Amino acid sequence: RIAYVNGRYVPHRDAAVHVEDRGYQFADGVYEACEIRAGAIVDLRRHLDRLDRSLAELRIAAPMGRGALVTVIRETARRNRVRDGIVYLQVTRGVAPRDHAFPPASVRPALVVTCKPMDRAAAERRAETGVAVVTVLDNRWDRVDIKTVGLLPNALAKQAAREAGAYEALFVDADGNVTEGASTNAWIVDRDGRLVTRPADHGILRGITRTVVIETARAAGVEVVERKFTVAEAKAAREVFVTAASTIVMPVVRIDGAAVANGAPGSVATLLRARFHEFAERTPI
Ligand code: PLP
Repeated sequence: RIAYVNGRYVPHRDAAVHVEDRGYQFADGVYEACEIRAGAIVDLRRHLDRLDRSLAELRIAAPMGRGALVTVIRETARRNRVRDGIVYLQVTRGVAPRDHAFPPASVRPALVVTCKPMDRAAAERRAETGVAVVTVLDNRWDRVDIKTVGLLPNALAKQAAREAGAYEALFVDADGNVTEGASTNAWIVDRDGRLVTRPADHGILRGITRTVVIETARAAGVEVVERKFTVAEAKAAREVFVTAASTIVMPVVRIDGAAVANGAPGSVATLLRARFHEFAERTPI
């Protein structure tokens, strides 16, 4: 395996950043994770638009122009011969002697790109049975719309899910509303048959998959409402599912050990997963 690290393609086992990289010391960096399908990056433009926004919110300079970045991403996928997988890119504020405030502008941001294959058949099998989730308190900061590498609450939530034998953790705010998953956006089909997901305010990440799912659901004649919903509502919903670039649309069939509806994936989730596949397969190389 090959990784791109600050201007060089290096063997994955040798891919390292400096101990004074601000991503390492302060989680002072942002990232993106995109699906690679048949060698093409799905929805790359929207991912790079979101990266630009994350960088601008934190006042980190772009590591290079968009054209060069696209070349590095594609080249990393090509060198790894990954046809189906995930490409990960991370930009930190750079390497400087440890000091909380920003380093001088002469310190250049650091860019790392890695990629890994994924087992699409296993993902499809999982989607056919659906997954279990647990709920955890959303104790993150109030700007999780910025895709920063500061993911400690997400890592702890995912570990809680793993220890409970579940696939994902749903964050729940102090008012009992589901915000999103540890690495996914959360959705329900409510008692009136409407598809509901939380508005993309500062309390969730505006998922690229979320945007595509809203568009394809509306195109398929499904009514979509962006509003908050509670855990109680999710537990009583007709359907629950989570979305992300790595998981596409994943039906949730158990919440905190209790079955959702009849405990099987719902028709809306199944339809939207199929529509997402059609969308992704139209991605230009
Ligand atoms: N929410 C969080 C916290 C995430 O980490 C992710 C993806 O990693 C998502 C939502 C889904 O975003 P996307 O659909 O762009 O992958």
